Amino acid sequence: SFAGKTAIVTGSNSGIGLGVARELARAGANVVLNSFTDRDEDHKLAAGLAAEFGVTARYIAADMSDPDACRALIAQAGACDILVNNAGIQHVSPIEDFPVAKWDAIIAINMSSAFHCTAAALPVMRKAGWGRVVNIASAHGLTASPYKSAYVAAKHGVVGLTKVTALETAQEDITCNAICPGYVKTPLVEAQIPDTAAKYGMTEEEAVQKVILERQPSKQFATVEQIGGTAVFLCSPAADQITGTTISVDGGWTAL
Ligand code: NAD
Repeated sequence: SFAGKTAIVTGSNSGIGLGVARELARAGANVVLNSFTDRDEDHKLAAGLAAEFGVTARYIAADMSDPDACRALIAQAGACDILVNNAGIQHVSPIEDFPVAKWDAIIAINMSSAFHCTAAALPVMRKAGWGRVVNIASAHGLTASPYKSAYVAAKHGVVGLTKVTALETAQEDITCNAICPGYVKTPLVEAQIPDTAAKYGMTEEEAVQKVILERQPSKQFATVEQIGGTAVFLCSPAADQITGTTISVDGGWTAL
């Protein structure tokens, strides 16, 4: 159990982040949810987790594209035993047409936020004498697809940052690993279905089976609960000697 431990999950008012926060709360951790909005429904998500799992849960608004806001999130949380760097966005375009603002936003949110949050969290973990950093990378942190230049670059960067973080903490009770999901059914992926169907002139169902899950040999989406369970494992005693590596949850994608 993670009783008394505090987990901060960036980008956790939906999708994988919320699923990871739920599984950490189920395992007994107090959780800090985050996104860039500050709506009643964001705070209600935290209240719901607290009620369901009997833990302390808070929502702290912070824009992960802003380095100062990343560092302020960790400071405001007051504790950080487990840091899950999860916030991420996607944009799909050929390199020559890729909007510069989108490139900058993806690099900032998907990659640099992990650097800033880790930089702020490590001193807190060192003081506590224990810490676990889990970076949500992607199969696109290990392989590439056309038209996803910023995303693939950022996720490869996150895998690199994971290794450096692990080396800098190797002789402390701190580990850092990356989870590399294939396709997980979340709003981020659902938003790609209509575009993909239109691009290939297919129904949405065909687009899912033939295009989106083309590289996922299982032909099934992973679930947010499975990603959350993997994060819980990486924070459990069985994983104490696992550091600086990646765990794929991708239905065989990276075996192809
Ligand atoms: P999602 O859109 O459901 O969740 C993204 C989260 O990030 C949301 O909570 C959103 O509010 C938050 N976010 C976006 N911009 C932010 C900002 N500027 N500041 C703070 N929070 C911000 O998508 P998801 O699929 O759950 O993605 C979560 C992570 O998992 C991402 O890093 C994504 O790249 C990664 N991932 C997803 C899949 C997949 O198939 N869904 C596969 C591999 C990796």
